[in-house]
Amino acid sequence: MLTILSDRQKGLIEGVDHVFPTSPHGYCMRHLAVNFHKKFKHPELTKLLWKAAKATTLESYNDYLSKMDPIHIDARPWLLGNANPLHWANIYFPGKRYGHYTSNIAESFNAWILEAREQPILAMFETIRHQLMNWYDERRQLEITTPGILIKDVSNKIQGMINNYARRYTFHAIDQDNYEITSFNGEVLREYRVNIALRTCSCNRWQTDGFPCAHGLAIILKLKHNPQMFAETFYHLNAFRMTYINTINHPHSTEPTIPLPAPAPAPARTILPPLTNLTAEISDSDEDPEHNDNAEDDEC
Ligand SMILES: [Zn+2]
Repeated sequence: MLTILSDRQKGLIEGVDHVFPTSPHGYCMRHLAVNFHKKFKHPELTKLLWKAAKATTLESYNDYLSKMDPIHIDARPWLLGNANPLHWANIYFPGKRYGHYTSNIAESFNAWILEAREQPILAMFETIRHQLMNWYDERRQLEITTPGILIKDVSNKIQGMINNYARRYTFHAIDQDNYEITSFNGEVLREYRVNIALRTCSCNRWQTDGFPCAHGLAIILKLKHNPQMFAETFYHLNAFRMTYINTINHPHSTEPTIPLPAPAPAPARTILPPLTNLTAEISDSDEDPEHNDNAEDDEC
């Protein structure tokens, strides 16, 4: 499924609905937060907006929104009236953003080609082509020594959760796939449900991030499975390498697309006997120009 992430420029909301009717459309949180801040000018409100966007449960989402009310009573109605949470809040967003909440990637690319954009069109394409060649080359060198199945960033996050959280939970098996997890941090007791077959957790992080949450990891370790096997293939080293496997070639380096005419058949040649045995007889009369030409051809 294709997910669109945009800055909500005029016409984009209707345009995406029209051209990509089945694609979830996420709003860039940085743009939304800037608009929200311009309206209410309170840094705490902006922080609550970001937390509400990243919240993985309805309970925490509602909690962050309700904390806006004492700061400015109009903040929540303005937010919900101007930006449908379906397009920015994790708990309602129907697509996958893999941790991307902003359109920064597109803007970084724009900034990256800023110099090229000032050039005449052919020079611009050549500059961007060379930039992309370097980009691909650099990324082919990344992750070369990464062990395991997943890219380094995700495998480090999984290992961090295993070290810091996953071994601290208590759990009970409901059946071979479903488990109840209890988390107690000394103050608050929380309960979660993990389905190892469906790769879900009631904390919703596994579904949102595409790799197991700490609760899921507790069960994966208990079952002695490899935690890396439970992340989406999007994060696999092989998927990363395949992204950059194709080369970017010079536009004139490809084979001609129009086939060249077939070469004319070679003229029939008369094969003459070797000269050696005829030396004595023809030595005085070896003036045949055709004969000499053939001898030269053989040396070529
Ligand atoms: Zn969880």
